[in-house]
Amino acid sequence: MSEALMSTYARADLAFERGEGSYLYTADGRRYLDFGSGIAVSALGHSHPHLVKVIQEQAAKLWHTSNLYRIPEQEKLAERLVAQSFADKAFFCNSGAEANEGAVKIARKYWSSKGKPEKYRVITFEGAFHGRTLAMLAATNNKKYLDGFGPKVEGFDHVPLNDMAALKAAITPETAAIMVEPIQGEGGIRAVPTETLRAIRKLCDEHELLLILDEVQTGMGRTGKLFAYEWAGITPDIMTLAKGLGGGFPVGAILATAEAASGIAPGTHGTTFGGNVMAMAAGNAVLDILLQPGFLDRVQKRSSYFRQQLAMLQDRYPDVIEEVRGQGFLLAVKTRLPNTDFQAALRDEHVLGVTAGENTVRLIPPLTTSEEDLAEGVKRIDAACLRLREAAKKAGAAK
Ligand code: PLP
Repeated sequence: MSEALMSTYARADLAFERGEGSYLYTADGRRYLDFGSGIAVSALGHSHPHLVKVIQEQAAKLWHTSNLYRIPEQEKLAERLVAQSFADKAFFCNSGAEANEGAVKIARKYWSSKGKPEKYRVITFEGAFHGRTLAMLAATNNKKYLDGFGPKVEGFDHVPLNDMAALKAAITPETAAIMVEPIQGEGGIRAVPTETLRAIRKLCDEHELLLILDEVQTGMGRTGKLFAYEWAGITPDIMTLAKGLGGGFPVGAILATAEAASGIAPGTHGTTFGGNVMAMAAGNAVLDILLQPGFLDRVQKRSSYFRQQLAMLQDRYPDVIEEVRGQGFLLAVKTRLPNTDFQAALRDEHVLGVTAGENTVRLIPPLTTSEEDLAEGVKRIDAACLRLREAAKKAGAAK
């Protein structure tokens, strides 16, 4: 591994040269089933013909002009996302953390513009992950990520997930918003039950708080609906997106109701790269596919098949798999051994998964993964479980 890179990541000693559909290929021709999707990013898999075509055509025409000028592709993507969601307004940025930062800024500005600047605090939940910028580290409140980075940014309060009494108690006259992931991704695919999401919405209404949903990981069809909030039958005031939005092209977005965004005026927020022509072309191309009739139905159907198969593996290997959880193609296996061992065993069988909290490994295939590729994946995960069982037996015998 190159000494020239900062040592921020514990990378696997594995590199890929190209991708096709749900497979990644190394330069020497080894083929891996990508059930990690680059951490829930490659919604359309790799080298999707439509995405490739749109990006190639756009690259030959124009890349970047800045937000000093109108960007028709940006207006188009904003209008489409607004038409498909609760929102009236969209703002584009470059990552999930940046989207969340912007969401908190919009919430604070809202209250300030209403003459209540004292309302600036945001309540977040234990086990959350909102990103790595200084403020989002504070929102995330995970000691592991905060350690050594100086005083925590002020203005965030934290409560346990699914503890309504604690949530109510945390609300003060200074609270501006509640921010929550409908399913905690990095936290280990921990779902917020529908009733809890509804109760949070109600609480926001009763206490005049803005509800910010962080759909950076759950959005863009990952759970089988375009946005995860649709399952709960509620709507947020502000929502953040990133990951799948560009299908691999870096892009984030903040969507908001006109009311929630009413504090925003020219000059109050911005970014050089955000919403540039290339990113918007990617976002529109991803949406072209996700909005095709029947696409999300197929995600639901195939992901329930996959989940069922994983549940069968749990029955067969209760010594390896403790639980299968999640929704749509945002699934995770909670393992009885260290999750890094499970991830390594999958990799030995040429399947890529992503570790997450609570000793889980996420299995988050591209939304386009065929039933055949899922079945192939299940076969390989089965082999990985067997491999782990045999290794545990051997280790037990050696004691
Ligand atoms: N929010 C959620 C729910 C995430 O899962 C992530 C990334 O994993 C982020 C925010 C941060 O996104 P990014 O890494 O693009 O800054």
